[in-house]
Amino acid sequence: MRTFRILLALSVWPILLLAQSTPEQIAYALSTRYTPYFDGAARLDLEEVAAQKVEAWWSSPAERRVLGQELSAAPLAGLHLALDPGHVGGFWAKWEWRNFRISEQDYWVREGELVLEVAQRVRAELTRLGAQVTLLRESSQPINPETFADYWPAVAAQRTPPSEVNLQIQLQHAMAVRDAAIRMAIVSGELAERARVVNEQIRPDALLSLHINAAAWPEGDTQQLVQSDHTHVLVFGCLSEAELLSSEHQAQLIEKLINGSGPIEATLGAALGAALGEATGLPASDYQGDNAIRIDAEVPYLWARNLMLLRLVKCPTVLLEPYVANSEREYARIQAALNARAHHQPLPADDILLEYTSAVVEGVMQAYGTLQADGEVQ
Ligand SMILES: [Zn+2]
Repeated sequence: MRTFRILLALSVWPILLLAQSTPEQIAYALSTRYTPYFDGAARLDLEEVAAQKVEAWWSSPAERRVLGQELSAAPLAGLHLALDPGHVGGFWAKWEWRNFRISEQDYWVREGELVLEVAQRVRAELTRLGAQVTLLRESSQPINPETFADYWPAVAAQRTPPSEVNLQIQLQHAMAVRDAAIRMAIVSGELAERARVVNEQIRPDALLSLHINAAAWPEGDTQQLVQSDHTHVLVFGCLSEAELLSSEHQAQLIEKLINGSGPIEATLGAALGAALGEATGLPASDYQGDNAIRIDAEVPYLWARNLMLLRLVKCPTVLLEPYVANSEREYARIQAALNARAHHQPLPADDILLEYTSAVVEGVMQAYGTLQADGEVQ
């Protein structure tokens, strides 16, 4: 009987709900997180925003705990997480500008491949703890069904071809169009497809997008490793005034403002940020300028930014950016990790991908794990 009631509750979970926020709460969220560097509230009709109905299919951490305890004793029972191994890797890594090595004897560092392994390891551990976990990709291939050929006409239409009848110049133009079409297929088109799949097919309780950060190369482009090494996580927020005036950004902001994903992102982001800080021992990243804002005084690792994936995915979404891959310390650790895997050796005790994995699992447990009677996370 109890199982039947739970299944019934699950089946009606995706609902259209009236915004739970008052205009005053929305104004506060705008000033502290979504439009912190200008008066966004003055640009919106907050009464109208608060009266809208939006879709919300996910459970909050508190709702999941109630559901999970009825379902099973496993600490993450009832939780459905989607994991996005950021970027693509493989053949596409160089087109993503995420493919580097310092010397020819080194292994290529490809973010898309490193985070795919982390995602697979996180899935194994979270599944063991009772969660359902869906990866957005399982290989180093894009999931976007559109290829560069599909984007070619649109890209070509935006660029005036050279008038000179000169083969070299005409070829350069064609190659520039090709390169831009490839980038659209594997970057912006790919991100749009991943968001669509999460919103329309997977519909998880939350999405975690896994990345490894890198610093801009020092002046001169000599590919010298840098000293700075840090970690942070990102949630949606911090629009510029120009972005708020874009009807697309504004509609997505309003949806995220009132669909209840914001506070869950803050809780989950804080847990993951703190877990990454603890596991890596790294300081928090610091943004200069006004494209990012810290939203929790207690958690220096948690920042809000208006990134495409964070904006397009409706359910709670946190993007992880630990480590600086081209720092001296992490580059050496990545090389050691790749060497051990290439030679099927035991993984080093401080293996960077294992460290990353356990931090993600710890953060998810802190946010969603079932509390024991003594208040400890199980
Ligand atoms: Zn990345």
